[in-house]
Amino acid sequence: QRNVVTVGKGFAEAAKRLQMEAEDKANIIPKLRVESRRKYLEKRKGDKITELEADIFDDEYLFDEQQLTERERKDREYKKKILSLAKEHDKARELELVQRYHMPDDKRDKAMPDRYVEIDDREKQPHSEQRIWEDARMATAQWNFGARDAKQRLQEKGKVHDYDLLLDDTIDFVQTNQLAGTKGIEDQPEVSDIQKKKMSLQETRKSLPIFPFREDLLQAVEEHQILIVEGETGSGKTTQIPQYLYEAGYCKDGKKVGCTQPRRVAAMSVAARVAQEMGKKLGNEVGYSIRFEDCTSERTVIKYMTDGMLLREFLSEPDLQSYSVMIIDEAHERTLHTDILFGLIKDIARFRPDLKLLISSATLDAEKFSDFFDEAPIFRIPGRRFPVEIFYTKAPEADYIDACVVTILQIHVTQDAGDILVFLTGQEEIETALESLTERTRRLGTRIKELLILPIYANLPSDMQAKIFEPTPPGARKCILATNIAETSLTIDNIIFVIDPGFCKQNSYNARTGMESLVVVPISKASANQRAGRAGRVAAGKCFRLYTAWAYKHELEENTVPEIQRVNLGNVVLLLKSLGINDLIHFDFLDPPPHETLALALEQLYALGALNHMGELTKLGRRMAEFPVDPMMAKMLLASEKYKCSEEIVTIAAMLSVNSAVFYRPKDKAIHADTARKNFFSPGGDHFTLLNVYNQWVDTDFSTQWCFENFIQHRSMRRARDVREQLVGLVERVEIDMVSNKDDLVAIGKAVTAGFFYNTSRLSKTGGYKTVKHNQTVLIHPNSSMFEELPRWLIYHELVFTTKEYMRQVIQIENSWLLEVAPHYYKAKD
Ligand code: ADP
Ligand code: MG
Repeated sequence: QRNVVTVGKGFAEAAKRLQMEAEDKANIIPKLRVESRRKYLEKRKGDKITELEADIFDDEYLFDEQQLTERERKDREYKKKILSLAKEHDKARELELVQRYHMPDDKRDKAMPDRYVEIDDREKQPHSEQRIWEDARMATAQWNFGARDAKQRLQEKGKVHDYDLLLDDTIDFVQTNQLAGTKGIEDQPEVSDIQKKKMSLQETRKSLPIFPFREDLLQAVEEHQILIVEGETGSGKTTQIPQYLYEAGYCKDGKKVGCTQPRRVAAMSVAARVAQEMGKKLGNEVGYSIRFEDCTSERTVIKYMTDGMLLREFLSEPDLQSYSVMIIDEAHERTLHTDILFGLIKDIARFRPDLKLLISSATLDAEKFSDFFDEAPIFRIPGRRFPVEIFYTKAPEADYIDACVVTILQIHVTQDAGDILVFLTGQEEIETALESLTERTRRLGTRIKELLILPIYANLPSDMQAKIFEPTPPGARKCILATNIAETSLTIDNIIFVIDPGFCKQNSYNARTGMESLVVVPISKASANQRAGRAGRVAAGKCFRLYTAWAYKHELEENTVPEIQRVNLGNVVLLLKSLGINDLIHFDFLDPPPHETLALALEQLYALGALNHMGELTKLGRRMAEFPVDPMMAKMLLASEKYKCSEEIVTIAAMLSVNSAVFYRPKDKAIHADTARKNFFSPGGDHFTLLNVYNQWVDTDFSTQWCFENFIQHRSMRRARDVREQLVGLVERVEIDMVSNKDDLVAIGKAVTAGFFYNTSRLSKTGGYKTVKHNQTVLIHPNSSMFEELPRWLIYHELVFTTKEYMRQVIQIENSWLLEVAPHYYKAKD
């Protein structure tokens, strides 16, 4: 019964020797072998045959059993045994009973017949000599034989199932622990995707964990002004609570229910979902508002918005009079804007007793919120989560994007049905992974099942975003490449596998130097567990961490540092000042920012002319606060009035806001793309290059084809156009005329300088650049049009830290301009 696995070490060695001998023999009588094999092949046409089989055939064809020595007869027996082993193994794999890799056991393994169990045990010792040899042997047994066309024929017939050969690379994982599921959850019926499809939207709503608590929740809202709502991601907080409130009459008398989201994509996608559930058109009763895009109307009663947008609403409606309920959602994310909102809204609640406040969070920090909001009660929605097995790599992975791609394929060919969710840090990484994965799956062709690869990130157009929610077609598997957005803000159903490389992109601000840059940093343990939790929503899941268990334990922080403690506060300080909040030191912060950061923000605003010596907002500062952009950008926009180039500056501002996503560079056409990009280079720097791109696009009447031909991302351009439109509106609101001064590069350069003089750097004697403010070494990004120019003075738009500190989007300036635009900040050398 266990014949398949009674393979001792001695046998393996003998077989190896045998193999070598067979090869020798083959050298002696190659002709005969070729001839005999040809015939043999002829005979077995269409069958799947192996090298070994043919070998045995050779033996039998060439030598008579009687003539064989004892040893030879034994050899032949061994060969036959190997063959049967290979066949057995192959068959098992065909039935998907055996896993080749150190992937976790699949559910199906439980039903595996006895005799395969030991194969499995053996698999657990990947580096045993025997295993290595066997694997190699198995591979040659399957493949080394026959002419190329024979191989191809087999492939075409779809008879090949050897994953060893499908994947040229795999990763070893070890399992160490498990994220526990909710007690008793295994007994609950699984709501599969297909069942869900059959369910009506209303039935789906009722199947969410929050539904049984609808009445209790409404009652709690009725009884308390402030309520903390805590519940596992996906329980229905974001999509259901506003609807419950609406149904319970909180939108009477033209009042609205507002719900903030830290992320743009989440606000849009959730609003779309709720509109659909309510059978309304998006933008009517249900709408959303994000920076540079307002999709609401007079009729809107449920309004989703980014936390930043609600902050801005305070400017026009300081008491939020039009809202009956405000939900601060995803509070655990602790974004800068959400943190500021906490302080403001707590204050408002005191003098607006009719305003209901809900602070909603995933299962984190609820007590902390409750403490902050004067012991507000916590409403817990019991979670529903299946256990998730956690796997770590045995060794650190050098290239985590590649490791992701490898793991995705590994899961795809070895694991049971279920979609995959991969966490990457941003659009660029997602595109790299997408490209590589597409390429590899294409190469594998029909040998693997269909793999739908879907990206999701903030700049993705909404029709593409919606795709991630579409049910997976039968037989296929969905693989979603997401940014942090999928950690808690968006819930995608049917995810069984999560791949977590352990990184995210973070804004980091050095309060000492005032340098701000976007860096990829390790996530916290809390984040890692949130990510893993995404795998256990519909069934028991698995999470593959592309880092070691040791790294998890020793290298990850417990919690993510709240944004307020690690970013530039310029924008927020400006906003608070314009709300009349002057004493920032005593503002009611959940966690106060470091004093240096506050001081630096004040200093910068002072330098920009937004604050006077008393620390009060100037007229300029008040105008700057009208723009939902960085204070430096706001100042630049306002300076365009003096230099009579508002048309150009507005375009530059819009293009800078989509900057890194303007050009694209497919690997197979890299040279063409580079040439196309260089053709746009304009004297003076990247700002002029961006302006040139936009203006040429306008000249083609916003042509998609033109973008395509010039390796320009059409959707980025479309977004730039939208942003530009919004900015024009804002510029006109502060009563600046739109005038063009296209050919006056100096005027445009000065307007940029008026905003960004803080970011000046000067060529140093050693060839690099030094920032003027802190004498830090920085370099021009290789993508820049200034890369080979090395002007003496530069202004950069942003710093990005990769291997070095790079300046991205630079413009050449004269140092005399600095004296002109910021005389209080720069002075001439005496
Ligand atoms: P929570 O806020 O508690 O994390 P949500 O209200 O976001 O939960 O999600 C509840 C359910 O609604 C989930 O099953 C999720 O898949 C579904 N859902 C949310 N947004 C969409 C969407 N845009 N399209 C389809 N389903 C969605
Ligand atoms: Mg939510």
